[in-house]
Amino acid sequence: MIPTIVLVGRPNVGKSTLFNRLTKTRDALVADLPGLTRDRHYGRGIGASQPYLVVDTGGFEPHTDSGILKAMAKQTLQAIDEADAIIFLVDGRQGVSPQDMEIANRLRRSKCPVLLAVNKTEGMQKAVVSADFHELGLGYPLSISSAHGEGVRDIVELALENF
Ligand code: GDP
Ligand code: MG
Repeated sequence: MIPTIVLVGRPNVGKSTLFNRLTKTRDALVADLPGLTRDRHYGRGIGASQPYLVVDTGGFEPHTDSGILKAMAKQTLQAIDEADAIIFLVDGRQGVSPQDMEIANRLRRSKCPVLLAVNKTEGMQKAVVSADFHELGLGYPLSISSAHGEGVRDIVELALENF
């Protein structure tokens, strides 16, 4: 069985950018427009010690007042349920948002391992930036830069380590 890593996070944190890096495709839509990726999007992960699948989720409505969990597409919740490991992305340049907190609360109930990825940390003091995100209660925050590739290999190997 090939393990599946699911990328989760509120709009604009860099899920599709990470997906593209892991699959080396331009398949996932990357844009400044939050919430552009509407559906689950599968790809074959490359460059790790073993084969794996990656799922880019993004079925959030960008302008909801009713809470991000209600706006999470069924597709996204299904992807979470089918995941072997989850990479939960947050934005290191914006700090912890209420949406991050809501998603974290949902992910804490997940049966599979969740890795907390503090993205967009290139050129920043990684330890300082990531410290803020401890409060999400999902373990040690790992600094990455999806755009520059920093920390990306390490986090994937951690996600795959029990498979
Ligand atoms: P998604 O909505 O979570 O899929 O986010 P996207 O992958 O579409 O990225 C949203 C925006 O963040 C785009 O403008 C990306 O170029 C930018 N972005 C993604 N990763 C990084 C990163 O590591 N560093 C910086 N500075 N920007 C990033
Ligand atoms: Mg996207």
